[in-house]
Amino acid sequence: MRISEIEPFIVHVPLKDSIADSTNSIDHWGFPGVVVHSDEGSKGYGFTGTHAFLAGDQQITAYISSIYRPLLLGEAIESRACIERIWRKLHDTPPLKWIGRAGVSHLALAAVDIALWDLLAKSLQLPLWKMLHQDKAPSRLEAYNTDAGWLNIPLAELVSGCLRSLERGFKGVKIKVGSANPRDDLVRIEAVRKAIGPNHRLMIDVNGKWTLDTALKLACDLDGFDLFWCEEPLYFDDVVSHAELAKVMRTPMALGEQLYSEFHFDAFLRANAMKFVQVDAMRVAGITEWLRVADRALGSGVPVVPHVGDMMQVHQHTALAHPACGLLEFIPWAQECFEEPATVREGEFLPPTAPGAGTTFTRAAMTRFGRPLR
Ligand code: MG
Repeated sequence: MRISEIEPFIVHVPLKDSIADSTNSIDHWGFPGVVVHSDEGSKGYGFTGTHAFLAGDQQITAYISSIYRPLLLGEAIESRACIERIWRKLHDTPPLKWIGRAGVSHLALAAVDIALWDLLAKSLQLPLWKMLHQDKAPSRLEAYNTDAGWLNIPLAELVSGCLRSLERGFKGVKIKVGSANPRDDLVRIEAVRKAIGPNHRLMIDVNGKWTLDTALKLACDLDGFDLFWCEEPLYFDDVVSHAELAKVMRTPMALGEQLYSEFHFDAFLRANAMKFVQVDAMRVAGITEWLRVADRALGSGVPVVPHVGDMMQVHQHTALAHPACGLLEFIPWAQECFEEPATVREGEFLPPTAPGAGTTFTRAAMTRFGRPLR
Protein backbone atom coordinates (compact mmCIF):
# COMPACT_ATOMS: atom_id res chain seq x y z
CA MET A 1 0.00 0.00 0.00
CA ARG A 2 1.37 3.39 -1.01
CA ILE A 3 0.34 6.96 -0.30
CA SER A 4 -1.47 8.31 -3.37
CA GLU A 5 -2.71 11.71 -2.13
CA ILE A 6 -3.16 13.82 0.95
CA GLU A 7 -6.12 16.03 1.80
CA PRO A 8 -5.68 18.60 4.58
CA PHE A 9 -8.73 19.79 6.53
CA ILE A 10 -9.67 22.12 9.37
CA VAL A 11 -12.58 21.32 11.68
CA HIS A 12 -13.70 23.71 14.44
CA VAL A 13 -16.25 22.25 16.83
CA PRO A 14 -18.26 24.55 19.13
CA LEU A 15 -18.28 23.66 22.84
CA LYS A 16 -21.56 23.38 24.74
CA ASP A 17 -20.28 26.03 27.18
CA SER A 18 -17.30 28.37 27.00
CA ILE A 19 -14.54 27.27 29.34
CA ALA A 20 -11.53 28.92 30.94
CA ASP A 21 -8.42 27.92 32.81
CA SER A 22 -5.76 30.25 34.18
CA THR A 23 -4.28 31.01 30.76
CA ASN A 24 -6.87 30.08 28.11
CA SER A 25 -10.48 30.89 27.40
CA ILE A 26 -12.15 29.06 24.53
CA ASP A 27 -15.51 28.25 22.97
CA HIS A 28 -14.39 25.94 20.12
CA TRP A 29 -11.91 23.08 19.79
CA GLY A 30 -9.84 22.96 16.61
CA PHE A 31 -8.75 19.92 14.62
CA PRO A 32 -6.40 20.93 11.81
CA GLY A 33 -5.54 17.64 10.13
CA VAL A 34 -5.10 15.52 7.07
CA VAL A 35 -6.68 12.57 5.31
CA VAL A 36 -3.98 10.35 3.80
CA HIS A 37 -5.26 8.35 0.80
CA SER A 38 -3.70 5.05 -0.25
CA ASP A 39 -3.51 3.53 -3.72
CA GLU A 40 -5.82 0.79 -2.39
CA GLY A 41 -8.60 3.29 -1.78
CA SER A 42 -8.30 3.39 2.02
CA LYS A 43 -8.08 6.59 4.08
CA GLY A 44 -6.16 7.44 7.26
CA TYR A 45 -7.31 10.37 9.39
CA GLY A 46 -4.94 12.37 11.59
CA PHE A 47 -5.11 15.70 13.34
CA THR A 48 -3.69 17.79 16.12
CA GLY A 49 -5.69 19.78 18.70
CA THR A 50 -5.85 23.57 18.91
CA HIS A 51 -7.86 26.45 20.31
CA ALA A 52 -9.49 26.92 16.91
CA PHE A 53 -7.39 29.92 15.96
CA LEU A 54 -8.09 29.79 12.22
CA ALA A 55 -5.01 31.65 10.96
CA GLY A 56 -2.81 29.37 13.08
CA ASP A 57 -4.60 26.22 11.95
CA GLN A 58 -4.15 27.34 8.34
CA GLN A 59 -0.39 27.52 8.96
CA ILE A 60 -0.48 23.90 10.13
CA THR A 61 -2.40 22.66 7.08
CA ALA A 62 -0.24 24.77 4.75
CA TYR A 63 2.84 23.12 6.26
CA ILE A 64 1.32 19.71 5.56
CA SER A 65 0.47 20.61 1.94
CA SER A 66 3.56 22.50 0.92
CA ILE A 67 6.33 20.84 2.95
CA TYR A 68 5.19 17.29 3.76
CA ARG A 69 3.07 16.36 0.73
CA PRO A 70 5.98 15.97 -1.74
CA LEU A 71 7.84 13.83 0.82
CA LEU A 72 4.84 11.61 1.46
CA LEU A 73 3.52 10.77 -2.01
CA GLY A 74 4.51 7.27 -3.11
CA GLU A 75 5.74 6.17 0.34
CA ALA A 76 4.89 2.59 1.31
CA ILE A 77 2.84 1.93 4.47
CA GLU A 78 3.26 -1.75 5.26
CA SER A 79 4.48 -1.84 8.83
CA ARG A 80 5.35 0.14 11.93
CA ALA A 81 8.91 0.38 10.62
CA CYS A 82 7.63 2.22 7.52
CA ILE A 83 5.93 4.85 9.69
CA GLU A 84 9.00 5.28 11.86
CA ARG A 85 11.14 5.78 8.75
CA ILE A 86 8.73 8.37 7.34
CA TRP A 87 8.62 10.18 10.71
CA ARG A 88 12.41 10.37 10.64
CA LYS A 89 12.36 11.68 7.07
CA LEU A 90 9.81 14.42 7.85
CA HIS A 91 11.56 15.37 11.07
CA ASP A 92 15.22 15.10 10.17
CA THR A 93 15.61 16.15 6.54
CA PRO A 94 18.16 18.97 7.02
CA PRO A 95 16.21 22.06 5.96
CA LEU A 96 13.19 20.82 7.93
CA LYS A 97 15.17 20.12 11.10
CA TRP A 98 16.45 23.70 10.90
CA ILE A 99 12.98 25.26 10.91
CA GLY A 100 11.12 22.56 12.85
CA ARG A 101 11.33 20.50 16.07
CA ALA A 102 8.51 22.43 17.83
CA GLY A 103 5.44 24.56 17.18
CA VAL A 104 3.59 24.55 13.85
CA SER A 105 5.88 22.03 12.15
CA HIS A 106 5.52 19.57 15.04
CA LEU A 107 1.74 19.88 15.22
CA ALA A 108 1.64 19.29 11.46
CA LEU A 109 3.87 16.23 11.82
CA ALA A 110 1.57 14.94 14.58
CA ALA A 111 -1.42 15.08 12.22
CA VAL A 112 0.45 13.24 9.45
CA ASP A 113 1.93 10.59 11.75
CA ILE A 114 -1.45 9.82 13.36
CA ALA A 115 -3.06 9.50 9.91
CA LEU A 116 -0.38 6.94 8.96
CA TRP A 117 -1.03 4.85 12.10
CA ASP A 118 -4.76 5.04 11.40
CA LEU A 119 -4.16 3.88 7.83
CA LEU A 120 -1.94 0.97 8.92
CA ALA A 121 -4.35 -0.22 11.62
CA LYS A 122 -7.26 -0.05 9.17
CA SER A 123 -5.29 -2.07 6.59
CA LEU A 124 -4.76 -4.77 9.23
CA GLN A 125 -8.44 -4.56 10.24
CA LEU A 126 -7.45 -3.88 13.86
CA PRO A 127 -8.23 -1.12 16.33
CA LEU A 128 -4.91 0.60 17.01
CA TRP A 129 -4.71 -0.58 20.64
CA LYS A 130 -4.90 -4.18 19.46
CA MET A 131 -2.26 -3.64 16.80
CA LEU A 132 0.10 -2.06 19.35
CA HIS A 133 -0.74 -4.63 22.00
CA GLN A 134 -0.14 -7.64 19.78
CA ASP A 135 -3.65 -8.96 20.24
CA LYS A 136 -3.56 -9.26 24.01
CA ALA A 137 -6.57 -8.23 26.06
CA PRO A 138 -6.51 -4.52 26.92
CA SER A 139 -5.56 -3.45 30.39
CA ARG A 140 -8.27 -1.59 32.29
CA LEU A 141 -8.23 2.13 31.70
CA GLU A 142 -9.73 4.33 34.38
CA ALA A 143 -11.10 7.77 33.48
CA TYR A 144 -10.83 10.93 35.56
CA ASN A 145 -13.04 13.89 34.81
CA THR A 146 -11.57 17.26 33.86
CA ASP A 147 -14.82 18.66 32.50
CA ALA A 148 -16.36 19.57 35.89
CA GLY A 149 -13.44 21.67 37.06
CA TRP A 150 -13.02 24.70 34.78
CA LEU A 151 -11.90 27.91 36.39
CA ASN A 152 -14.90 29.91 35.13
CA ILE A 153 -17.35 27.63 36.97
CA PRO A 154 -18.69 29.30 40.15
CA LEU A 155 -17.77 27.57 43.41
CA ALA A 156 -21.16 26.01 44.24
CA GLU A 157 -21.48 24.64 40.71
CA LEU A 158 -17.90 23.38 40.81
CA VAL A 159 -18.63 21.36 43.95
CA SER A 160 -21.94 19.97 42.66
CA GLY A 161 -20.35 19.11 39.29
CA CYS A 162 -17.52 17.19 40.97
CA LEU A 163 -20.03 15.29 43.10
CA ARG A 164 -22.06 14.44 40.00
CA SER A 165 -18.89 13.11 38.38
CA LEU A 166 -18.45 10.65 41.24
CA GLU A 167 -22.11 9.61 40.96
CA ARG A 168 -21.45 8.86 37.29
CA GLY A 169 -18.67 6.45 38.28
CA PHE A 170 -15.54 8.59 38.02
CA LYS A 171 -13.10 7.91 40.85
CA GLY A 172 -11.26 11.17 40.42
CA VAL A 173 -11.73 14.78 39.33
CA LYS A 174 -9.39 17.55 38.28
CA ILE A 175 -10.04 21.21 38.97
CA LYS A 176 -8.38 24.22 37.38
CA VAL A 177 -6.60 26.75 39.58
CA GLY A 178 -4.32 29.72 38.98
CA SER A 179 -6.79 32.46 39.98
CA ALA A 180 -5.63 36.07 40.20
CA ASN A 181 -5.52 35.61 43.96
CA PRO A 182 -4.03 32.22 44.86
CA ARG A 183 -6.03 32.23 48.12
CA ASP A 184 -9.17 31.81 45.97
CA ASP A 185 -7.62 28.62 44.63
CA LEU A 186 -7.17 27.25 48.13
CA VAL A 187 -10.86 27.95 48.86
CA ARG A 188 -11.92 26.01 45.75
CA ILE A 189 -9.59 23.09 46.48
CA GLU A 190 -10.74 22.88 50.11
CA ALA A 191 -14.43 22.97 49.14
CA VAL A 192 -14.05 20.17 46.59
CA ARG A 193 -11.88 18.01 48.84
CA LYS A 194 -14.40 18.38 51.67
CA ALA A 195 -17.30 17.47 49.36
CA ILE A 196 -15.74 14.42 47.68
CA GLY A 197 -14.06 13.10 50.84
CA PRO A 198 -10.64 11.53 51.25
CA ASN A 199 -11.21 8.43 49.11
CA HIS A 200 -11.41 9.98 45.66
CA ARG A 201 -8.59 11.37 43.59
CA LEU A 202 -8.39 15.14 43.41
CA MET A 203 -5.97 16.79 40.99
CA ILE A 204 -5.32 20.47 40.38
CA ASP A 205 -4.10 22.08 37.15
CA VAL A 206 -2.37 25.47 37.19
CA ASN A 207 -1.76 25.64 33.40
CA GLY A 208 1.68 27.16 33.95
CA LYS A 209 0.41 30.25 35.74
CA TRP A 210 2.43 30.45 38.96
CA THR A 211 5.90 31.84 39.46
CA LEU A 212 8.30 29.71 41.46
CA ASP A 213 7.93 32.11 44.41
CA THR A 214 4.13 31.77 44.40
CA ALA A 215 4.31 28.00 44.17
CA LEU A 216 6.85 27.75 46.98
CA LYS A 217 4.59 29.86 49.22
CA LEU A 218 1.56 27.66 48.44
CA ALA A 219 3.36 24.31 48.61
CA CYS A 220 2.69 23.59 52.29
CA ASP A 221 -1.05 24.41 52.00
CA LEU A 222 -1.35 22.27 48.88
CA ASP A 223 0.32 19.33 50.58
CA GLY A 224 -2.45 19.45 53.20
CA PHE A 225 -5.15 18.55 50.66
CA ASP A 226 -3.75 15.13 49.74
CA LEU A 227 -3.78 15.99 46.04
CA PHE A 228 -3.09 13.17 43.61
CA TRP A 229 -1.07 15.65 41.58
CA CYS A 230 -0.39 19.30 40.91
CA GLU A 231 -0.31 19.86 37.14
CA GLU A 232 1.87 22.42 35.34
CA PRO A 233 2.42 24.74 38.30
CA LEU A 234 5.12 26.75 36.47
CA TYR A 235 6.04 27.80 32.95
CA PHE A 236 6.05 24.69 30.79
CA ASP A 237 9.71 24.56 29.69
CA ASP A 238 11.35 25.59 32.96
CA VAL A 239 13.09 22.41 34.13
CA VAL A 240 15.24 24.11 36.79
CA SER A 241 12.36 25.82 38.62
CA HIS A 242 10.25 22.65 38.60
CA ALA A 243 13.19 20.78 40.09
CA GLU A 244 13.46 23.46 42.81
CA LEU A 245 9.77 23.16 43.58
CA ALA A 246 9.97 19.36 43.70
CA LYS A 247 12.48 19.62 46.54
CA VAL A 248 9.94 21.53 48.68
CA MET A 249 6.46 20.37 47.65
CA ARG A 250 5.43 16.82 48.59
CA THR A 251 2.49 16.85 46.14
CA PRO A 252 3.75 15.14 42.97
CA MET A 253 3.86 17.14 39.75
CA ALA A 254 2.16 16.08 36.51
CA LEU A 255 3.78 17.71 33.48
CA GLY A 256 4.22 17.42 29.76
CA GLU A 257 1.16 18.51 27.79
CA GLN A 258 3.20 21.39 26.32
CA LEU A 259 6.44 19.46 25.73
CA TYR A 260 7.49 18.59 22.20
CA SER A 261 9.98 15.74 22.27
CA GLU A 262 11.37 12.77 24.15
CA PHE A 263 14.39 14.89 25.06
CA HIS A 264 12.22 17.45 26.86
CA PHE A 265 10.61 14.66 28.87
CA ASP A 266 13.99 13.13 29.56
CA ALA A 267 15.22 16.42 31.05
CA PHE A 268 12.27 16.65 33.47
CA LEU A 269 12.54 12.99 34.44
CA ARG A 270 16.27 13.27 35.09
CA ALA A 271 15.62 16.35 37.23
CA ASN A 272 13.20 14.27 39.32
CA ALA A 273 10.54 16.93 38.69
CA MET A 274 7.91 14.90 36.79
CA LYS A 275 5.99 12.21 38.68
CA PHE A 276 3.23 11.79 36.06
CA VAL A 277 4.04 12.00 32.37
CA GLN A 278 1.29 13.80 30.45
CA VAL A 279 2.62 13.30 26.94
CA ASP A 280 0.13 14.26 24.21
CA ALA A 281 0.50 12.69 20.76
CA MET A 282 -1.00 15.86 19.28
CA ARG A 283 2.08 17.80 20.40
CA VAL A 284 5.00 15.36 20.38
CA ALA A 285 4.58 14.87 16.64
CA GLY A 286 2.30 11.89 16.77
CA ILE A 287 2.03 8.34 18.04
CA THR A 288 5.58 7.46 16.96
CA GLU A 289 7.17 9.90 19.40
CA TRP A 290 4.44 9.27 22.02
CA LEU A 291 5.52 5.63 22.17
CA ARG A 292 9.17 6.65 22.63
CA VAL A 293 8.23 8.91 25.54
CA ALA A 294 5.97 6.28 27.12
CA ASP A 295 8.73 3.65 26.86
CA ARG A 296 11.17 6.08 28.47
CA ALA A 297 8.71 6.76 31.33
CA LEU A 298 8.15 3.04 31.81
CA GLY A 299 11.90 2.56 32.10
CA SER A 300 11.94 5.21 34.84
CA GLY A 301 8.96 3.72 36.68
CA VAL A 302 6.89 6.88 36.14
CA PRO A 303 3.22 6.48 35.12
CA VAL A 304 1.97 8.00 31.87
CA VAL A 305 -1.40 9.78 32.06
CA PRO A 306 -1.79 11.40 28.63
CA HIS A 307 -3.19 14.85 28.04
CA VAL A 308 -6.06 14.54 25.58
CA GLY A 309 -5.72 17.25 22.97
CA ASP A 310 -7.32 14.63 20.68
CA MET A 311 -10.44 14.46 22.86
CA MET A 312 -9.37 10.93 23.88
CA GLN A 313 -9.79 9.39 20.42
CA VAL A 314 -6.15 8.38 19.92
CA HIS A 315 -5.02 8.20 23.54
CA GLN A 316 -7.68 5.66 24.51
CA HIS A 317 -5.84 3.34 22.08
CA THR A 318 -2.28 4.14 23.10
CA ALA A 319 -3.16 4.06 26.81
CA LEU A 320 -5.00 0.73 26.53
CA ALA A 321 -1.96 -0.73 24.80
CA HIS A 322 0.90 0.68 26.85
CA PRO A 323 1.91 -0.81 30.22
CA ALA A 324 2.86 2.63 31.63
CA CYS A 325 -0.81 3.76 31.42
CA GLY A 326 -3.80 3.00 33.63
CA LEU A 327 -5.53 6.36 33.88
CA LEU A 328 -6.76 8.78 31.21
CA GLU A 329 -8.30 12.22 31.18
CA PHE A 330 -11.97 12.59 30.19
CA ILE A 331 -13.04 15.69 28.23
CA PRO A 332 -16.20 14.91 26.27
CA TRP A 333 -15.99 17.54 23.54
CA ALA A 334 -16.65 16.91 19.85
CA GLN A 335 -17.65 13.32 20.49
CA GLU A 336 -20.54 13.58 18.05
CA CYS A 337 -18.00 14.19 15.27
CA PHE A 338 -16.34 10.78 15.26
CA GLU A 339 -17.40 7.50 13.67
CA GLU A 340 -16.59 5.75 16.95
CA PRO A 341 -16.57 8.18 19.89
CA ALA A 342 -14.66 7.33 23.07
CA THR A 343 -17.01 5.73 25.60
CA VAL A 344 -16.69 5.71 29.39
CA ARG A 345 -18.86 3.39 31.51
CA GLU A 346 -18.68 3.24 35.29
CA GLY A 347 -15.52 5.31 35.22
CA GLU A 348 -13.63 3.17 32.68
CA PHE A 349 -12.95 3.49 28.96
CA LEU A 350 -14.47 0.76 26.84
CA PRO A 351 -11.93 -0.60 24.34
CA PRO A 352 -12.76 0.67 20.83
CA THR A 353 -13.69 -2.00 18.32
CA ALA A 354 -13.50 -0.27 14.92
CA PRO A 355 -10.26 -0.67 12.90
CA GLY A 356 -7.95 2.35 13.02
CA ALA A 357 -6.86 4.97 15.53
CA GLY A 358 -10.31 6.36 16.38
CA THR A 359 -9.69 9.44 14.27
CA THR A 360 -12.25 9.04 11.48
CA PHE A 361 -14.59 12.01 11.39
CA THR A 362 -18.16 11.58 10.22
CA ARG A 363 -18.89 13.11 6.85
CA ALA A 364 -21.56 15.26 8.53
CA ALA A 365 -19.03 16.72 11.01
CA MET A 366 -16.53 17.50 8.25
CA THR A 367 -19.24 19.33 6.30
CA ARG A 368 -20.84 21.11 9.24
CA PHE A 369 -17.70 22.19 11.10
CA GLY A 370 -15.19 22.38 8.24
CA ARG A 371 -13.33 25.68 7.87
CA PRO A 372 -11.46 27.15 4.86
CA LEU A 373 -7.83 26.15 4.35
CA ARG A 374 -6.90 29.68 3.27
MG1 MG B 1 -3.48 20.50 31.87
